[in-house]
Amino acid sequence: MNVLVVGNGGREHALAWKLAQSSRVKDVFVAPGNAGTAADAVNVDISVTDIPAVVKFAKDNDVGLTIVGPEAPLVAGMVDALQDAGLRAFGPSKAAAELEGSKVFCKNLLRHADVPSADYRVFRDAESATHYLTERDDDPVVVKADGLAAGKGVIVCRNRSEALIAVDRIAASKEFGEAGNRLVIEERLVGQEASVLAITDGRTLITLPAAQDHKPAYDGDQGPNTGGMGAYCPTPLVTDEMLAGVEESVLVPTIHQMKRNRRPFRGVLYAGLMLTKGGPKVLEYNVRFGDPECQPLLMRLKTDLLDVLDAAVDGRLDEVGQLEWDPRPAVCVVMASEGYPGSYEKGYPIRGLDEAARLDDVKVFHAGTSIIDGQVVNTGGRVLGVTALGDTVAKAKLLAYQAVKCIRWEGAWCRKDIADKAITVA
Ligand code: ATP
Repeated sequence: MNVLVVGNGGREHALAWKLAQSSRVKDVFVAPGNAGTAADAVNVDISVTDIPAVVKFAKDNDVGLTIVGPEAPLVAGMVDALQDAGLRAFGPSKAAAELEGSKVFCKNLLRHADVPSADYRVFRDAESATHYLTERDDDPVVVKADGLAAGKGVIVCRNRSEALIAVDRIAASKEFGEAGNRLVIEERLVGQEASVLAITDGRTLITLPAAQDHKPAYDGDQGPNTGGMGAYCPTPLVTDEMLAGVEESVLVPTIHQMKRNRRPFRGVLYAGLMLTKGGPKVLEYNVRFGDPECQPLLMRLKTDLLDVLDAAVDGRLDEVGQLEWDPRPAVCVVMASEGYPGSYEKGYPIRGLDEAARLDDVKVFHAGTSIIDGQVVNTGGRVLGVTALGDTVAKAKLLAYQAVKCIRWEGAWCRKDIADKAITVA
């Protein structure tokens, strides 16, 4: 069968790479892809949000399954459009993707489903939010724009004055546009963060091993938030018992509540968790694979990914059984352009990719790269996800950084402490 992966990040490179290993797959297309997917699959020059062009391409090229990677096309209804055209697609419908597309929807659903999460209030304007903040205790809060804001619409505040500024930015100055038409103010939780992802057909769930992302830009979790500077899997911070608890008291009730709300959820349900003293609490839901969590996860997956995604689309995930995993942990280190997450220069040639590729148990997933005049150059903020397997997390980390050392371009940088939290626990 031909498959189409929509997206151009490291996540989509990992998906395309993994799907290309399936004996049932003929061609893997990626729209629009990057320099890495050009090597492992066939790139198609279609933008991530061009729904009619994706539908037309899938029809014209006998695509048996389309996998939509990023949230924006999911929230915009790409899966619905593909299905309306009689095509098969993996990912939630527009209605179900609201779980990520609207924080108000998500928080209300969590409350109805009795899923542990931070206490919250919803506001429609800056005045009422400001009034609330001045009346309540000066406990730390988090102020969130309701809609998608590429990770920037969440402002973690230490005190009331920071919260008042956040309210002003979101609801009065409209820094995040319409995403700020409503806002959520919630209790600030404390703990380690972990990501638990599950593949679901709306009835059956297959929970994947827990991973940990590193959102802040710099070592020691300092600096501004990013799309993610590295991840590893599995994380010892989430024990097997805890994972079973998350499935039972977080994921299952969420799927049931979505069904009751007539928004059956099919696709990847990704719970961003805070591991608080009182147990895991949901910070947010994403409705797709995490990037970069997807890279170490898929590096470890031994089961044919197409079989799993196919079964999810057809509503027969109960037939799949246990997934097979490489017992070794995987660590992914993101290499970024100088200046990221702020503005950065593009177009620098990237050297040493072949050298890194020659290392056993290493895969360099591309994100912001393109081929210009026959050379691989940086074209995005997060450029590569250098991923390695090792007998222990420490060994996987060592190998990932050995591969990082092979690769260079002007201004390239990365965090040096990816997976250290796992190593400290072990
Ligand atoms: P956007 O919607 O703008 O794309 P996002 O979905 O990435 O943003 P979240 O994942 O909800 O935003 O939050 C980003 C980060 O903010 C979390 O990883 C966490 O570190 C922090 N955060 C969010 N909510 C809370 C909370 N209640 N308490 C403490 N920290 C929080």
